[in-house]
Amino acid sequence: MPLRILSAEWVVPVAAPPFRGGGVLVDGEQIIGVGPAPELLRSAPGTAITDLGHAALMPGFVNLHAHLELTAMRGYLEEPRFMPWLMRVVSGRRRLGEEDLRASALAGAVESVRAGITTIADIGQSNHGFHAMSQVGVRGVFFQEIVCLQAEDVDQVFHEFEGRIAPLLDRQSKRLGVGVSPHSPCTVRPEMFERLMTWWRASPRPVTIHTAESIAELEWLKNGTGDFASLLGGTDFPPDPPGCSPIAYLDRLGLLEAGPLLAHAIHTDRHDIELIARHHCAVAHCPKSNAKLGQGIMPLQAFQAAGITVGLGTDSAGSNNVLDIIDEARFCGLIHRASNRNAALLPAGELLRMATIEGARALGWQDRIGTLEPGKQADLIAIDLSRIGLQPIHDVEAAVVFASAAGDVKFVMVQGEPLFKAGRMTSVSEQETALGLVKAGMRLDESTASAPEP
Ligand SMILES: [Zn+2]
Repeated sequence: MPLRILSAEWVVPVAAPPFRGGGVLVDGEQIIGVGPAPELLRSAPGTAITDLGHAALMPGFVNLHAHLELTAMRGYLEEPRFMPWLMRVVSGRRRLGEEDLRASALAGAVESVRAGITTIADIGQSNHGFHAMSQVGVRGVFFQEIVCLQAEDVDQVFHEFEGRIAPLLDRQSKRLGVGVSPHSPCTVRPEMFERLMTWWRASPRPVTIHTAESIAELEWLKNGTGDFASLLGGTDFPPDPPGCSPIAYLDRLGLLEAGPLLAHAIHTDRHDIELIARHHCAVAHCPKSNAKLGQGIMPLQAFQAAGITVGLGTDSAGSNNVLDIIDEARFCGLIHRASNRNAALLPAGELLRMATIEGARALGWQDRIGTLEPGKQADLIAIDLSRIGLQPIHDVEAAVVFASAAGDVKFVMVQGEPLFKAGRMTSVSEQETALGLVKAGMRLDESTASAPEP
């Protein structure tokens, strides 16, 4: 592939301060230079320049926590109580056919790319998230999910999990990896964690888990009370609660040995944070999902002070309702400043680091992506700054974080391959994808109307 220069009025490398009138020199899939456009041209005379105009050229965003296959549940889960919300996710998912899940995952992948997300940590019970990411060309890790409530189901559930993950392991690539996600401490039996860790020790892979997300989870693990107690009452889940925090319980189960990416981690104390730091776990902070479900605010400053890597996740469209990391970064900054009554917290540049390089670090990919630097993969985006609501540009990082929106993203490239340019996705028809999503949404409505919820 020939050399190319992508230039824009602003370059925001994240690894260095923003500067004007620069660009990125790309050789195939790799960045080989970042600097003023004339300098790049001097180092590679005759190279074609694509000028992205009045825009901010920057590394693509990393979404550390998504469920692409649930995109059809946008607006379907407007349920204020956590446990009925979770039950509605489960029943709604059962109502979607394979074709609906496929369309839903593809739509989620397209929405993500349109929002400048170039790397996704996606969790799914089907494999449609993996295939959707592959079809659209986005980078990521697909985590195959495990839920197991009954002792008698452990063998069967694990067997099915192995059957689902096996074909994906053969299809891994430089762009797309595969991992496993035991759903949460309250929806996966201890025996299954044990089985999973034996499997993991033989062949270590990325692991992610929802944890310390809800008040219900905390109540059940600590005291055996609350909503999970009623849910698990109908199962043969171990009747005695562990009597500790979710993080301490995961440590006791041995899962922290795998250094899992912890999604949410809201209800954590000093001891939990020490455990997380000691096991070098990273955290997917999902402030919008947590706020929308009324579950609390993750103690971000304590995590950062302990040296824990924290990136951002949207969670699914069912709880957020948009797969938009710019919006997540903005909300993250605002909610922590408000709750700490401290406007000095989380300046725009730091929020951009959380949305890019810290997300990359959480996946162990900090040497490959997350900044514009020579030697890194050409995963980059351009955000159009010409809209009146963004003008004037006094501080380009503040413009991106506090004034721009997903719809301002005008160019997206992964591994040197453009995925979105000139207003169009390069690999799929957006119209057909949207139609599939609407049909999947209609299926949810129809089946909800015809069958009462369990
Ligand atoms: Zn989630």
